[in-house]
Amino acid sequence: MTERIYNFSAGPAALPLPVLEQAQKDLISLGDTGIGILEHSHRSKAFLAVYEAAEALCREVAAVPDNYKVLFVQGGASTQFFTIPMNFLSKDQTADYLVTGSWSKKAVKEAKMFGNVNVACSSEDQNFSYIPEEVNYSDKPAYVHFTSNNTIYGTEFASEPQVPGDAPLICDASSDIFSRPLDITKYGIVYAGAQKNLGPSGVTLVIIRDDLIAQGPSDIPTMLQYRTHSEAGSMYNTPPTFGIYILGQVLQWLKDQGGLSVMQEKNQAKAGKLYDYLDQSKLFKPTAAKKDRSLMNVTFVTGDADLDAKFIAQATAAGLDGLKGHRSVGGMRASIYNAFPEAGVDKLIETMSQFEQEHAS
Ligand code: PMP
Repeated sequence: MTERIYNFSAGPAALPLPVLEQAQKDLISLGDTGIGILEHSHRSKAFLAVYEAAEALCREVAAVPDNYKVLFVQGGASTQFFTIPMNFLSKDQTADYLVTGSWSKKAVKEAKMFGNVNVACSSEDQNFSYIPEEVNYSDKPAYVHFTSNNTIYGTEFASEPQVPGDAPLICDASSDIFSRPLDITKYGIVYAGAQKNLGPSGVTLVIIRDDLIAQGPSDIPTMLQYRTHSEAGSMYNTPPTFGIYILGQVLQWLKDQGGLSVMQEKNQAKAGKLYDYLDQSKLFKPTAAKKDRSLMNVTFVTGDADLDAKFIAQATAAGLDGLKGHRSVGGMRASIYNAFPEAGVDKLIETMSQFEQEHAS
């Protein structure tokens, strides 16, 4: 087998090796069924057990209260960008959006098709390199939407924003879900495309409070009503069976690691090492404001695009893949989600130190 290298991709991203090894077996035969996971009917007893285990693990790992549903849907986080306003924002209402990156901006664009949007804060003035402290909410917003981790810019909310009154807080947690404990009771909806911290692309996790499900209109397309997926246990149509299977395996792995608090400690240790190195480096500079640094996506530059390209090429040759930053920030981005091993961070720091020595001015 080809040796596995360190994959710093922002998503789809590295998955835990034990999960992949188990999947390898289950591809041929899920347990002793003689039928592989990709080939099982979603109505089969064997798949229903997979589904129920994934849902139960999600509830357990994230302490999801009974008055919330766990849904597995399709269309990526981007489909939630319009499904949310389609369900919860009407022409005469205003929703508040905290704009901390281009994914939040895309969510705003969709919401404007359904109602009014108040951009309650934005960090676009400094290329989204920080999380604004001042937030100007509208009177009685239909909901407040924010992006907990900004994948491209390497910033992350330290905690949930305070919302006015009883406005539901809706979070796009695509790139930091289950990387640290979260208090679901503070949210109306938490959603995430799976392809960073939860599994493969093609399945989106939606954790949604019951009263919001009931509140949604019934005169919009059936597939875009949350009640459809809630009432049918995410089986109104054929669900993304393989994605749900892997998500369940990843959640089991997460539980075996010790759950969300332990994961947070591990993530703090991994990112901490990298930021410590960057803070003392004379060549590499982190791009995100110190107080808002992401534990998931660490962004940095040398300040010289040619040198960045040279470093990326050198790192790739050393078995460190996917370090090229997003074009809107440039430089480098090390995505170090839950499943990314600490040894890969050590190797990155070693490679950077070496490069720095070679290019010391
Ligand atoms: N939100 C965030 C924070 C993201 O990083 C991404 C990129 N995966 C998206 C939304 C879009 O997700 P998807 O590709 O699943 O639509």
